[in-house]
Amino acid sequence: MSGNFCNKCGDCCRRIPVDFEKRIIFFDGVQILTNEFEQMLYPVSKTKNITFCSCKYLENNLCVNSNKPKECANYPSSPFAYIPENCGFYGEIFSKSERFKQYIRKLKEEIIYCESLHSSDRNVQMTVEHNKSVIDKYKIYGSEDW
Ligand code: SF4
Ligand code: SF4
Repeated sequence: MSGNFCNKCGDCCRRIPVDFEKRIIFFDGVQILTNEFEQMLYPVSKTKNITFCSCKYLENNLCVNSNKPKECANYPSSPFAYIPENCGFYGEIFSKSERFKQYIRKLKEEIIYCESLHSSDRNVQMTVEHNKSVIDKYKIYGSEDW
């Protein structure tokens, strides 16, 4: 985070999207739902496979957990952090995610260029493999369509 834009609304900890079946949380990006994190949560609403949960450590919109789990430590830092409406970080995270998408598009352009060479050069092939693996890693956020 480059600045502290938190307006202390508490919404990020009041409506955490959780997929209990897949054991993932949509918090600072997509993260694994650990038992430790699960124990802090209680459900508030549900849509399809996503359960929105609040954290029991949220009091008067503030976190009272003196031993925050790692998932919360830097929130929101990921370009794909789940940002509630009106969160003060919305603009920063939006621009981060746009920059990241641009980076992925450049990797795709590089793949197209490398493949157009029809080269058997190992470095060219490695570039393609590397770029494809990065794109694949972010598939869960939609990288195939960027
Ligand atoms: S949703 Fe955003 S503004 Fe609200 S408490 Fe969380 S980080 Fe701060
Ligand atoms: S531990 Fe604190 S920061 Fe983490 S979800 Fe709960 S209230 Fe939010």
